[in-house]
Amino acid sequence: MSHWTPELLSPAGSLEKLKVAVLYGADAVYLGGQKFGLRQASDNFTYEELAEGVEFAHSRGVLVYVVLNSFLHDKDLLELPEFLTLLVDLKIDAVIVSDLGVIETVLSLTDLVVHLSTQASCLNIESAKLWQQMGVKRIVLGREVTIQEARKIKEATRLEIEMFVHGSMCMSFSGNCVISNYTQGRDSNRGGCAHSCRFEYSLDFKNEDSMENKKAYFMSSKDLEGIRLLPEFIEAGIDSLKVEGRNKSHHYAGTISKVYSEALGHYKKHGHFLSDDMLNWESELRKVSHRDYTTGSLDVYAGVDSIYNQRVDEDNEYVVSGIVLEACVGKHLLVDVKSAFMPGDILEVMPFKTPIENLSVTFLESLSGVSLPKSKPGSVVKIPYILGAEKFNIIRKKA
Ligand code: SF4
Repeated sequence: MSHWTPELLSPAGSLEKLKVAVLYGADAVYLGGQKFGLRQASDNFTYEELAEGVEFAHSRGVLVYVVLNSFLHDKDLLELPEFLTLLVDLKIDAVIVSDLGVIETVLSLTDLVVHLSTQASCLNIESAKLWQQMGVKRIVLGREVTIQEARKIKEATRLEIEMFVHGSMCMSFSGNCVISNYTQGRDSNRGGCAHSCRFEYSLDFKNEDSMENKKAYFMSSKDLEGIRLLPEFIEAGIDSLKVEGRNKSHHYAGTISKVYSEALGHYKKHGHFLSDDMLNWESELRKVSHRDYTTGSLDVYAGVDSIYNQRVDEDNEYVVSGIVLEACVGKHLLVDVKSAFMPGDILEVMPFKTPIENLSVTFLESLSGVSLPKSKPGSVVKIPYILGAEKFNIIRKKA
């Protein structure tokens, strides 16, 4: 008997990361085009990349959502219809929108499915009903909502409900923040957030006798990790679990998709989770770059425990050594090198469906077969073949 599980929605910051997320088990991916999304820094998709990405995902049964969640001025809205026509032609599965003007434009000009972005900060049933009347099919709830509150919104509206399950968090009301605008001249609500909340700030107390002036990262949030709450998400009937991180690495896109997909697949088959499996999945989630983890507001409203005030850098247990471009069975792997490694190193290969395997670099060669003392990022090299390795597998190394 198969048990119901939510959709796993992974970030696709580039065409290559889309392929990685799809192959490592995402049920759906979300991405941004060249305009109208809130991530200027990620490698937003060109039309050609979008077409290739949609074809790649759809041919594997994976859905594609396009992010249109900037708040637009009238002059920006004028450019929107042309972009919408492209999305309709590509048969994308939904657009993720927050601006009322954008929703109105999408619904009046197209039959595209509209998902309300978390930027719209929908936190309650009445708000959800209003968005529903407007024609929104799915609501990505504000991160301030608990799973139990989300369950009530779902029950009252029967709308599709999406919640964040993993990734970095914003300490403001889901992006409704202008710290970055004021301190860096970069507009958070038009894709330019400089993550000013991650900076170190000085506290300058008026009464210098009562408290020492000190520096702190008092606005930086820990990262969200909801894997232990999967039973609650499932029980509440949450339709889609979203992973944050379009600007993050291939390692992140692959690992988070693999771990959550394995966990949901396990539940689908067995109808429960085992604590040993949960420990293994948590251990894998600690191998990607992250800050300390928190469950944010998923079970109780986030408070001081969710502040990451110790340091600004993310922990980095592993680095990506490369991505497999071709597996020549029994001979070698062709690897697109992302960071340097050398003969004698022990690497780890992450297969799509099976456990991680160690790979000893007993030889390292250029494409023409010349032995190399060290791999160079950006180059393509040959290393030993390992059984089960496939194109797009991630190869990593302990930092
Ligand atoms: S600066 Fe921080 S709090 Fe403000 S929008 Fe960016 S991530 Fe959110």
